[in-house]
Amino acid sequence: MAISRAGHDVTVLERSDGDLTDRGFGIALPTPLHATLLSKGYLPSDAPALSIPHRLWLTRESSGDGWRELWRQTPQLITCNWGLLWKSLRTNVPDESYLTGRRVTGLRRDSDGRAVVSVEGEPDTAYDLVIGADGHRSVVRGLVEPHAAPAYAGYVAFRGVTPLRSIEHDRELTELLSDTGLTVMYDGGHLIVYAIPDAHGGRLINWVMYAEPPTETEIDPLRGVFAPDTAVDGLLAWSRELAAARLPARINQIITATPADGLGLQPVVDLTLRTSADAPFLLAGDANAVTRPHTGSGATKALQDALGLEEAMTTTPSLVDALKVYDTERNPASNEIVELGRRIGRDQAEYTPDWTTMDAASTAAYVTATWSGQTHYLLPAED
Ligand SMILES: Cc1cc2nc3c(=O)[nH]c(=O)nc-3n(C[C@H](O)[C@H](O)[C@H](O)COP(=O)(O)OP(=O)(O)OC[C@H]3O[C@@H](n4cnc5c(N)ncnc54)[C@H](O)[C@@H]3O)c2cc1C
Repeated sequence: MAISRAGHDVTVLERSDGDLTDRGFGIALPTPLHATLLSKGYLPSDAPALSIPHRLWLTRESSGDGWRELWRQTPQLITCNWGLLWKSLRTNVPDESYLTGRRVTGLRRDSDGRAVVSVEGEPDTAYDLVIGADGHRSVVRGLVEPHAAPAYAGYVAFRGVTPLRSIEHDRELTELLSDTGLTVMYDGGHLIVYAIPDAHGGRLINWVMYAEPPTETEIDPLRGVFAPDTAVDGLLAWSRELAAARLPARINQIITATPADGLGLQPVVDLTLRTSADAPFLLAGDANAVTRPHTGSGATKALQDALGLEEAMTTTPSLVDALKVYDTERNPASNEIVELGRRIGRDQAEYTPDWTTMDAASTAAYVTATWSGQTHYLLPAED
């Protein structure tokens, strides 16, 4: 979308058949970015999204049932449903440009400096520019920074989505989630909970819980979301036990209410890159550096990459120079968000303080120190 707006002919090669709306997990976006996407026409005005202006930090009460409030803050947060966000963006891409069932299996430069793309079962095709927006296992990345691969951070994200009505018997919690995201701190990790829109005008609860898995667990950092019916069943059972042990019982009811097909588990990985473009190849989204999910910035970064690319291609006549402009802006910005994700992981998952001794002032000081003054929608300056 970004480069067709800059006046170029675009072909999208997507390996999946059909649409991707079945990915129903939550995505948080900065309010200002969401406004930009609406005003520039990237998103239609009716794209489903929720404004969540409050964030409440909690920890389990010693009795185990309830919670103790640690801190309240006011993030600039819009929440979306991954599949619905994809669908909204997809409406701007004409069907004739969006080719599904096309797996890219190889890439090379030809003698004219063009990019030659091999797609399974089709003749090779040359393009002036290839944008690798092919996720954290990007094949295009190998042409820009050979050997770079995401590294496992040492812990996993156990995540789920359940209808808001599955906890409607707890009216107080249901109402709280209408405008407040929860962050529940515990020894060795934390849980994030917020509401997202569903496809029918209702709401879902999206949650992500971080913890180090049992030491005997073998993690393949390049595998994505595991399906619950695979060998990962044991890990999901472990995660449920962990949730029961670490979370306030009232919060754990969200995890126990989540249906099996709404659960996922994935290793937390990250990657910085020295460069994000080397003509005729350019990296965007998770292909261009991978941030840990704590920053709520993977999709955000992908969208910022798109906006940065449109700007570079619109204002810089030469393609090679436009890629340099993009690289100069987006490479450091991407690496900076990866570093923030590492610091949050270190302070809120790998080496956690004794939350039972923390109050609002010490929690605010602790979290703010992790951010080190970095401007970010989850921690606006006024907090
Ligand atoms: C637990 C968790 C929570 C998260 N929460 C947030 C959040 O709140 N906010 C946020 O901004 N981000 C969040 N993220 C990150 C976000 O989900 C990703 O960063 C984002 O989806 C990356 O988008 P992408 O388009 O770069 O890659 P992907 O979504 O992986 O898309 C890549 C596409 O390329 C296609 N593809 C791959 N290889 C090939 C090939 N060889 N040939 C053809 N097609 C190919 C794939 O089929 C896919 O459609 C979270 C991530 C996790 C794990």
